[in-house]
Amino acid sequence: MITRLADVVAVLEELWPPSLAESWDAVGLVCGDPEAPVRRVLLAVDPVGAVVGEAAELGADLLVTHHPLYLRGTTSVAATDPKGRVVHRLITAGCGLMVAHTNADNARPGVSDALADLFGLRDTAPLQALPAAPLDKLVVFVPHADAGRLLDALAAAGAGALGDYERCAWTTTGEGTFRPLPGAQPAIGAVGAVERVPETRLEVVLPRGRRVAVIAALRAAHPYEEPAFDLLELASQPGEVGTGRVGELPEPLPLGELVQRAAEVLPATAWGVRAAGDPAQLVSRLAVCGGAGDSLLPQAAASGAQAYLTSDLRHHPASEAPAGLALLDAAHWATEHPWVVDAARRLGAATTVETRVSTLVTDPFRLSSRSSTA
Ligand SMILES: [Zn+2]
Repeated sequence: MITRLADVVAVLEELWPPSLAESWDAVGLVCGDPEAPVRRVLLAVDPVGAVVGEAAELGADLLVTHHPLYLRGTTSVAATDPKGRVVHRLITAGCGLMVAHTNADNARPGVSDALADLFGLRDTAPLQALPAAPLDKLVVFVPHADAGRLLDALAAAGAGALGDYERCAWTTTGEGTFRPLPGAQPAIGAVGAVERVPETRLEVVLPRGRRVAVIAALRAAHPYEEPAFDLLELASQPGEVGTGRVGELPEPLPLGELVQRAAEVLPATAWGVRAAGDPAQLVSRLAVCGGAGDSLLPQAAASGAQAYLTSDLRHHPASEAPAGLALLDAAHWATEHPWVVDAARRLGAATTVETRVSTLVTDPFRLSSRSSTA
């Protein structure tokens, strides 16, 4: 069976949902014909010229990268510009480009999970969780005899689902009262007379995205002309996905040994790994963030970790890091490359396409030299 680009994109979007991307990001299919057949996919951190050359040489039909080619709008893809040249080379080679950036950072498993796995971290949680899907609560008052039927209708519209349970509700009983005015067509009672009805107070939660459908179901199933109900927005709570990870090392390590371990398990770069902290400090809980992670320093400190591994740490945030939090700083590319390997494995397992991991080191810093007096 021929696998089309659209099929591969669907699998990639299932693994790293675009809905998890930050609002400023540019993820998804950058170029390629959804109907084109895909047999071979190359995965890499950066959509740079050398990687596109590698894709063309391999005969890859799709290049999947972590970093976007264009993060902001452009008015030209002329080959006079390095990014325009990338577009031209991709199209000439018949190779599509797909980006999974902050959606791959936030998803689980995602970029920082691949990094955490290199250290065998257990019981991991996001350093900064995205809010869980927002919920509403509906409270509705209905005659006892109609309560079960109304709950069935609300559940069918998407209300009352909690984890592995459905049609969840809480009820209590009381008395409703009303006086129908001229023009009303009351299901119970008569115009002009005060009516008292034994009613069930029915409470259900619902995904906010189902609000319109659930209210429509309520109005359709409720026996009253004017059903009484309250609709409340529930407070936002941290969800399961998000950026960065924190977890327990299989065994505590002195910082000095952890730095050595990091240099061994991360892909090699000229820079290697540098660190700040007492080499003898024991580390049992480690925070990690693939890519530039200095914005998560406060979350890393609050997570109970004794050390934080990320990249692109700047002088001032590192100098002013919370006491007791050791810092490990690796090359940006090296902290994200483990995801590329993991992504190739997952894409290969979910499709029949052949996956390859780029063999190029696209860390721009290719030289380093130790200061003789350090
Ligand atoms: Zn990055």
